[in-house]
Amino acid sequence: MTSDIEQATELVAAAGQITVFTGAGISTDSGIPDFRGPNGLWTRDPSAQRLVDFDSYRSDRLIREQSWRRRATHPAFAAPPNSGHRCLVELRDRGQLRAVLTQNIDGLHQAAGLSPDEVLELHGTLHESECLGCGERRPIGEALDRVRVGVADPPCLSCGGVLKSATIFFGQQLDGAVFERAAEAAVNCDLFLAIGSSLRVQPAAGLVGLAARTGVPIVLLNAEPTPYDELAAVVIQAPIGTALPAIIGTRGGGAQAMDGPGFVG
Ligand code: NAD
Repeated sequence: MTSDIEQATELVAAAGQITVFTGAGISTDSGIPDFRGPNGLWTRDPSAQRLVDFDSYRSDRLIREQSWRRRATHPAFAAPPNSGHRCLVELRDRGQLRAVLTQNIDGLHQAAGLSPDEVLELHGTLHESECLGCGERRPIGEALDRVRVGVADPPCLSCGGVLKSATIFFGQQLDGAVFERAAEAAVNCDLFLAIGSSLRVQPAAGLVGLAARTGVPIVLLNAEPTPYDELAAVVIQAPIGTALPAIIGTRGGGAQAMDGPGFVG
């Protein structure tokens, strides 16, 4: 009998263009905790969810101060990409990567070697700040430097407005142009490969359903079941660090595991 991994390997080998969808699970081997996995931030501390609620952040200075303290030590700023990220670079180098649609805010796909054009960041990036007043975006290091010298809730340097990371909080709209490009990549490909996501955050997870309804075969790789498992041609419940190199047919440049504290954008 053919195993799930063998079936997925055959689908990947036969596909011309593959659209890859990633979630926090692809970065746990880099030392960045996910939200909903067994060691996830929200599994361990459900109250941490309020730190990514847009209305709370906008209206409550204490929430913003807590958020900035956490951002200042976020593991994403020091985490290296791991074998999972490198597998996707290999797919690109073979000419098989249509696009990476990521929910992640850590920038590790680009750190592994994908170009910004190849990565659609559905939930924004932790590496920039944005002002809720004038909309200005800057490298987030400037605000973090002020936090480190004691400015607990650094205001916008241009207009004095409230600053946050340029990530999408619950209650905020996704960037329409980015989502449109992601939807286009989801339906115009030979295979849709979703990696390391609980597929519980909408509208991002709906891209899996969109691809499936268009007739694109779906491969799901995640440690736990997801609400989209029944739409998939193949479901693999296994660690990404071993399963993804096997599916892609590479060693992924070697796993680099790290332990680290957890954080919310
Ligand atoms: P999630 O926490 O809801 O789900 C992650 C899934 O990955 C879980 O089901 C978990 O079991 C699985 N997983 C974790 N490590 C794995 C591994 N090594 N091998 C196989 N499976 C593994 O995350 P999500 O679906 O991405 O949605 C959460 C939201 O959290 C997203 O919007 C994202 O923006 C944000 N987030 C991002 C980061 C990051 O940028 N690295 C980290 C935490 C949360």
